[in-house]
Amino acid sequence: MDCIFCKIADGQIPSNTVFEDENFRVILDLSPASKGHMLILPKSHARDITELNEDIAGKALALAAKLGKATMTALGATGFNTLANTGESAGQTVFHCHIHVIPRYDDASRIV
Ligand code: 5GP
Ligand code: ZN
Repeated sequence: MDCIFCKIADGQIPSNTVFEDENFRVILDLSPASKGHMLILPKSHARDITELNEDIAGKALALAAKLGKATMTALGATGFNTLANTGESAGQTVFHCHIHVIPRYDDASRIV
């Protein structure tokens, strides 16, 4: 299967990695919605969250909380969004499950 996020997750394609463990690679989004916008990529392929193993889904949510919190101390974010687009009609464009972590700032114009 030709899946770009599989290739990024297993390191075949270089990426701006901010965190990695045995289950996930976390990268900076190519077109960030805000400074520090990250994508949590599970290393095992799933099309979207409906195919994600429950153990991995739980770990992904816990990781999203940690990363979001880290942007509040490291980048000065005052909040963050955690979301997964599921299906084309919901805005999913890459069909390898990923969780967005989007830091938010009091100055909403802060993109990069
Ligand atoms: P979706 O719309 O599927 O929820 O999110 C896909 C996200 O992946 C988009 O925010 C897009 O900017 C990002 N993206 C797509 N291709 C690449 C890539 O090759 N590298 C990185 N770092 N981000 C990507
Ligand atoms: Zn994949």
